[in-house]
Amino acid sequence: MSPTVFTNVRVFDGSGAEPFEGEVRVEAERIVQLARDGERVSREGALVIDGRGGTLMPGLVEAHAHLTWPSSVEKFVPGMHLPPEELALTAARNARILLDHGFTSAYSAGALSKKLEIVLKRHIDDGGLPGPRLVASSVERVPPVDDAQLDPGEIDEHGRGADSVRAFVKGCAAIGAKSVKFLISGESALQPGASHRLLYTEDELRAAGEQARESGVWLTGHAHAAEAVKLGVRHGFRVLYHCTYADDEALELLEQARERIFVAPTIGIVQATLDASPPPHFDMRHMKEDAAIVLERQRALVPELRRRGVKLLPGGDYGFPFNPNGRNARDLELWVRHFGYTPAEALHAATQLGGELMGMELGQVRPGFLADLLLVEGDPCRDIAVLQDKNKLKAIMKNGRFHKQPGDLQ
Ligand SMILES: [Zn+2]
Repeated sequence: MSPTVFTNVRVFDGSGAEPFEGEVRVEAERIVQLARDGERVSREGALVIDGRGGTLMPGLVEAHAHLTWPSSVEKFVPGMHLPPEELALTAARNARILLDHGFTSAYSAGALSKKLEIVLKRHIDDGGLPGPRLVASSVERVPPVDDAQLDPGEIDEHGRGADSVRAFVKGCAAIGAKSVKFLISGESALQPGASHRLLYTEDELRAAGEQARESGVWLTGHAHAAEAVKLGVRHGFRVLYHCTYADDEALELLEQARERIFVAPTIGIVQATLDASPPPHFDMRHMKEDAAIVLERQRALVPELRRRGVKLLPGGDYGFPFNPNGRNARDLELWVRHFGYTPAEALHAATQLGGELMGMELGQVRPGFLADLLLVEGDPCRDIAVLQDKNKLKAIMKNGRFHKQPGDLQ
């Protein structure tokens, strides 16, 4: 594969700084040269892409991906459950859709199948199927109401108690999952009041934290309740979603852990719930009431966490019928609208900070970094919504290879 040079572009490098005129050279899977201020990169042996004054930026990172949540901008699926064959094909399709919309990385927030994402990741990494880099997950862990009937000595991976939790984490690691998702507290959108109920004990989550470290996997937590946030921080979770009811103590703990933890408020699903106009048989009144409360709290929470230096990430629970996969870039516009971010700050969160979440040299236009790049017609730092139009993405490169190549070559 020949090297690639992008010329006649304005570079948004992921840092949050204003775009600058520059050139970029890619060799194999990495960015090897970045020139600015009228300097040129080497053109030796390269395919030269004239960016026509567009913006070259890092690929976007979705911090709360659900490739197995079925609905997408291409296909509306009523409900959430599909037969396994349909689910597999739908998830593969959703992976391609995320990449088509500029998301070159996705951190999974849980799947509807035990192994599907892990197999899908392998197919994507082999180059056999298009899709983002994937931190794959297994099913979300929700503790059972009643313990299953077991033989003596047998451990239920989904049962109560430290041993069961340990077995679950170990089992996820054994099949190749990297993100292990726990619902630390419930979800009021689905069951009134549940966001305030803890689903795990301190002992169980301590066991999860210990086993995750031993197995080399990352804990990922759904946490609305203040106590859920605290449990997540104390037991080494890598990313906590929502954090809606974080109190002063929870904020303090998040601030202390800010070097190792990420928070993703998932505003996309909240806004989508408020905007939805469901058919008459589908009563969303309760969900809308809850979403209004969550929105109000998060509009205060996110600026406060940012002030404390906590790393905050876009990612909005896309995949529901009223919040389809492929609409993920809308989160950035919502960050500007609700959280007081400038477009450049929102882009920084979705690129450089997203790269940190993925744990790879990603999310920056910087020599040595992996070449996941978007060539955008227009300037997302002026108009963040431009990223929601996939036709404005003139080139999409992942790992130095084009997923989408501009038609006009120099
Ligand atoms: Zn989710």
